[in-house]
Amino acid sequence: MKIGVLALQGDFLEHRAMLTRIGVESREVRKLSDLEAVDALIIPGGESTTIGKLMERYELDKAIRARAEQGMPIFGTCAGMIVLAKEIEGSTQPRLGLMDITVVRNAFGRQIDSFEADIPFAPTPERPVRGVFIRAPIVSRVGAGVEVLSTFEDKIVAVKQGNLLATAFHPELTDDERIHRYFLSLVRH
Ligand code: GLN
Repeated sequence: MKIGVLALQGDFLEHRAMLTRIGVESREVRKLSDLEAVDALIIPGGESTTIGKLMERYELDKAIRARAEQGMPIFGTCAGMIVLAKEIEGSTQPRLGLMDITVVRNAFGRQIDSFEADIPFAPTPERPVRGVFIRAPIVSRVGAGVEVLSTFEDKIVAVKQGNLLATAFHPELTDDERIHRYFLSLVRH
């Protein structure tokens, strides 16, 4: 099993470090041939407008959509969640639009734009995960096929739709491997 990490912008190195710690091979994805060589894809946090534009420039958007439709698992964190969303409130920025969700960018406002909190995560009920939020989005609408995996103060912050997983926070910036391990459990091997 080889996991691709979209490496156009953002904290892809932290995702790779987490995968290395778990003992899983990873590869940076910047062009079509990289994508062809991987079984699943992580879209990191960063700046969703930049990631979206660069995906189009390198023609990765269409290819990622096609792979997702064939069942390739994708995990988006923060900006990665935004890029996966069908609707982004108040924005026409480029996106994959694969998940039937609406997101609000920078939803926690300026005062508390970065914070940490313990977050319940449905697939790991034994104890909460540490949620690192950095100018994080929230999910303001979920379509019928979307499962809510985490909420924080009544706001939806983690979702799953079939082979697609997204968190508004950054598990790659913690020592907790459980969300990455959960994602890996979705990958056929
Ligand atoms: N605020 C960023 C955006 O809208 C996301 C921040 C992040 O990924 N930590 O793209």
